[in-house]
Amino acid sequence: MMDAALQALKQYFGYDRFRTGQDQIISRILNGQDTVGIMPTGGGKSLCYQIPALLFPGVTLVISPLISLMKDQVDALKDVGIQATFINSSLTFSETNERLSAAAQGIYKLVYIAPERLEVSGFVRILEHMHVSLVAIDEAHCISQWGHDFRPSYRAIPAMIDRFARRPAVVALTATATPRVTTDIRKLFGIEAEGVVATGFARDNLNFQVVRGQSADVFLLDYLRKNRDQPGIVYAATRKEVDRLYARLTQQGLAVGRYHAGLSEKERAASQEQFLYDDLTVLVATNAFGMGINKSNVRFVIHYNMPRNIEAYYQEAGRAGRDGEKSDCILLFAPQDIRLQKFFIDQSDMDETLKQAEYHKLEQMIGYCHTETCLQAYILRYFGERNPSGCGHCGNCLDTREKTDVTVNAQKVLSCVKRLRERYGKIMVAKVLAGASEQKLRSLHLDRLPTYGIMKEQTQKQIGEFIDFLTAEQYLVQQGGAYPVLALAERSLPVLKGEARVLKKGHIRAERLAVDDA
Ligand code: ADP
Repeated sequence: MMDAALQALKQYFGYDRFRTGQDQIISRILNGQDTVGIMPTGGGKSLCYQIPALLFPGVTLVISPLISLMKDQVDALKDVGIQATFINSSLTFSETNERLSAAAQGIYKLVYIAPERLEVSGFVRILEHMHVSLVAIDEAHCISQWGHDFRPSYRAIPAMIDRFARRPAVVALTATATPRVTTDIRKLFGIEAEGVVATGFARDNLNFQVVRGQSADVFLLDYLRKNRDQPGIVYAATRKEVDRLYARLTQQGLAVGRYHAGLSEKERAASQEQFLYDDLTVLVATNAFGMGINKSNVRFVIHYNMPRNIEAYYQEAGRAGRDGEKSDCILLFAPQDIRLQKFFIDQSDMDETLKQAEYHKLEQMIGYCHTETCLQAYILRYFGERNPSGCGHCGNCLDTREKTDVTVNAQKVLSCVKRLRERYGKIMVAKVLAGASEQKLRSLHLDRLPTYGIMKEQTQKQIGEFIDFLTAEQYLVQQGGAYPVLALAERSLPVLKGEARVLKKGHIRAERLAVDDA
């Protein structure tokens, strides 16, 4: 079977060998074993179902949420002589019917369908009459409410699969899935644990970097000036911010475009086209831009604001360097981004359990902005990889500043958290350590604690940042939803006992700043 697969690979796509993961996924599918395939962006997920589609009798249904991508994929397949079509809301009623009846006659090898179609009554009944050998689910994380892009219409897919008289093979593909999401995908499609093929998430050509404590605008202008001819995306958290940056950068003589959901469809389509065809090098956008954008030469993705979680960040940042060339993924962190993201979660219509999960993910995102260890490794650990090695080229791996021993300060913070019985959040802990004279502290008798004021040479803000560092390095954990409390993590015990040292890059400012902006 795999010989035939290789032959099809060569004949239709002109490639000599499969990439890591592709062969495993394809051979499982050809053996009729349902599979979850997890591969990084650009890893070659499409071929994982396109090759089996060519070898199987009948038709392969591809469920894809991306209307723009569907057309591109179908055009690309037609170009190499493979019969394919798509069905989505861009078609008229009669076009849809024509395509469906052609599909029922077995004209196509692949039919791409938007998941919303499955909710149109009667649609699934038409599919039942087709000879479907394989159902491929693209962006399969959309089925999980624990993922970052839950789409309720995906929930209709398992029922659709069950309705065929002869159950087709199933392959679910994604580039972003935490262990929890992977399990969810498996369970919803009834795929056994052995059916997961993951090639890892690492993207070696991406250089991650977090920029903190400097003006984001100054950094951005400087970066864009230095990289004038390089295609890139600047993501901002809100439409307002996109408009402001767009105006500011344009005023500074930089040719940039913008994209967000508040613009007319025409404006958006124009920006997207210009960017795709290199008429516009830099696009400033909200996260409305990008799903399914297949531009391979994006040299940098800068996040002007911190996104809400690592999954969203990795997917957006991962739009850089799909061609395998070195590219930058830079996150500009400012503490107020945390407030904004909390506000978004608060305002959402998620139920309480989901909100709690979102807050937890946000904490891990904040940890990314404060860790001093390898950024790529931090992301890989988040996605469940054990002991990933350092990438050697991210901002942290390249940070050669000497490490300072901050054990004593760490012990002060950790003992304060302990004294407070792990019942207070970061702000309160920082206040106690800084010796803030506030009525609230006095009324709670916190000013009588032995740890009260033991770090008064630092501002509350500096202490807060140090707590963020200790959290990112897993000495502390934040527990609970919108107002999490600080608790000791396992790693903190040897530090408290004086058995382990804590090292931090750069210098801890000992003197109080003139302006206390905490
Ligand atoms: P993904 O959907 O995982 O992001 P794609 O399916 O779009 O990735 O593939 C990314 C690129 O890699 C495409 O240009 C594709 O033609 C190419 N590609 C896929 N498989 C192979 C292979 N076996 N050999 C060489 N190139 C490949």
